Amino acid sequence: MPAIGRRDVLRLGAVSGVIPLASVAAGQEAPATGEVRGYVRLGRTELKISDISFGSSRLRRGGEHLIHHALDRGINYFDTADGYSAGASEHTIGRALEGRRDTVYIASKFVAGADESRVSLMRALDTSLRRLRTDYIDVYFNHAVNDVARMANPEWHEFTAMAKQQGKIRFTGMSGHGSRLIECLDYVFDRDLVDVVLVAYNFGQDPSFLSSMTKSFGRLPQQPDLPRALAKAKSKDVGVVTMKTLMGARLNDMRPFETGGATFSQAAFRWVLSDANVDALIISMTEQDQIDEYLGGSGGLPVSSEDVALLQRYAVANGITYCRHACSLCEGACPYGVPIPDVLRTRMYATDYGDVRFAREEYAKLEENASACLSCTGEPCAEACPHGIDLPEFAPATHRMLA
Ligand code: SF4
Ligand code: SF4
Repeated sequence: MPAIGRRDVLRLGAVSGVIPLASVAAGQEAPATGEVRGYVRLGRTELKISDISFGSSRLRRGGEHLIHHALDRGINYFDTADGYSAGASEHTIGRALEGRRDTVYIASKFVAGADESRVSLMRALDTSLRRLRTDYIDVYFNHAVNDVARMANPEWHEFTAMAKQQGKIRFTGMSGHGSRLIECLDYVFDRDLVDVVLVAYNFGQDPSFLSSMTKSFGRLPQQPDLPRALAKAKSKDVGVVTMKTLMGARLNDMRPFETGGATFSQAAFRWVLSDANVDALIISMTEQDQIDEYLGGSGGLPVSSEDVALLQRYAVANGITYCRHACSLCEGACPYGVPIPDVLRTRMYATDYGDVRFAREEYAKLEENASACLSCTGEPCAEACPHGIDLPEFAPATHRMLA
């Protein structure tokens, strides 16, 4: 499997656009599977974590066997949040890790608002600790931040200082995937407010990957400043964990093409982990076989030409159905107040992740849904997505599927 650098991608793409399937099939090696092959230093925390780690946004009660399987495969970093599965994610991790707590790292999160008091923050942390059956959390994040006011809140800083002093948290972080992520990252880096960041980042956002694509795929750069921000994190020795690395995770679409010794997910992971400014990634793990497959991307192997072929094929196939996570360009397009990006995010959970139950739960949480689409001509939002997503088709269909 020939290894190629990011610069080579430009050359490959310029010559052929999408690399022909014939070149993918030539190797015919079995995709690698198995176990963690790389442990990385998470910036200034000095934690040594598995490069591919456990994301638990869809973990439910009864999922302890997944945690045990991940442990057996060498995963030692488990990411959860107060709100995942209405607390069941933390609860399940706590049960599964009982007796093994000192062999792993746990990260959890809470949506701390700009006006949140230190008292309510401490109450939320204590609830997480109880569910997790532990007396400390290794990295505690302010969750899904898309407004600097949330990181400017002095109560957040007094709370984290107090929680550290009491030994309840070891390190602090900020997670984000919204349209104002870069502004928030610059804010926390310039003020030295966090030890770790958790950010959305995938090949479809990488300027070097996008520039290798033909015009058949939307090449509008998404957060073109993200590589600069990640380099800034590295220069400040802030740990960088990435998420949403699969650009929507339509894994089944790619199975017929996975004949070159790698799977699509492994290729996508190698792409992200080959970025020198990224330390590790978390990915939602919902089946044992899937864990084994994902870990085939562990170990810092270089991106191969077969990997690039898979990624390009995926990008072309899904470019006009994938709602970019950090995009808000259609905001305000709907005169009836339908939150289009949020609605399409829930659609992705159903159609890409294949998790309709989770999609329905998330859809039910929306303050405004897409019911207005059922009696709308679709004209106002018809041209609102510059990436070519057919909003008058997708928005009402999502409501019908998930309401
Ligand atoms: S629908 Fe299109 S414009 Fe709107 S958030 Fe998604 S990708 Fe961006
Ligand atoms: S179809 Fe109509 S109601 Fe639905 S998002 Fe588009 S403009 Fe809004």
